[in-house]
Amino acid sequence: MDIDPRRSRERMVREQIIARGVSSPAVLAAVRKTPRHLFVEEALKPQAYEDHPLPIGYGQTISQPYVVAWMTELLDVGPGMKVLEIGTGSGYQTAVLAEMGAQVYSVERVPELHKLAGNRLAAMGLGSVHLKLDDGTMGWPEHAPFERILVTAGGPKVPQSYLEQLADPGLLVMPVGAERRSQTLVMVKKQDGRIGRKTLGQVTFVDLVGKHGW
Ligand code: SAH
Repeated sequence: MDIDPRRSRERMVREQIIARGVSSPAVLAAVRKTPRHLFVEEALKPQAYEDHPLPIGYGQTISQPYVVAWMTELLDVGPGMKVLEIGTGSGYQTAVLAEMGAQVYSVERVPELHKLAGNRLAAMGLGSVHLKLDDGTMGWPEHAPFERILVTAGGPKVPQSYLEQLADPGLLVMPVGAERRSQTLVMVKKQDGRIGRKTLGQVTFVDLVGKHGW
């Protein structure tokens, strides 16, 4: 297999992301820049650019490249926006958002993953990232409101705390499902005090575990 990270990344962008319809130049540029192989453990590096999620330990996964790009495009992130991310995991999605110029506030509940992601993001010099170890189903009220909220774990419903912490106007993207490991991607839009919701297709994320999750 091709193990040159730049070539692997370029091929991933063309064959997995552009080919499936993601076209936002800002998203494509951020994915092209973000070294995904640095967000998986050594033994899995050769698979880092393949078309599937990978285990990151503690029963968790780094999302499939296409899913990260698709969700980031849906979120319509612009430079300087305040973004709340729930489920730091490997830190890869966090890095993509920071690369787009967002101020990212990311919460993770597994201490080891929180620490590892922090080390990786610090080593990459991504300064606009704030990480917290906590139950992210409560959001991060001290830093609200957020113009964007991205949840990368699946819960039974959109927690009320997220709706309260979403700015107006604001967008939220989250996998929601009545059963574990099977969700519909939901987009919530807040504008002029009103909340609208649309569904965008099936996805499979690990569980959002916590007070307002599973
Ligand atoms: N965005 C990540 C995907 C991580 S998988 C990446 O790019 O690698 C989902 C993550 O959500 C897991 O790390 C899991 O531990 C975390 N998670 C689950 N429930 C959570 C909660 N209540 N608060 C914060 N993180 C949570």
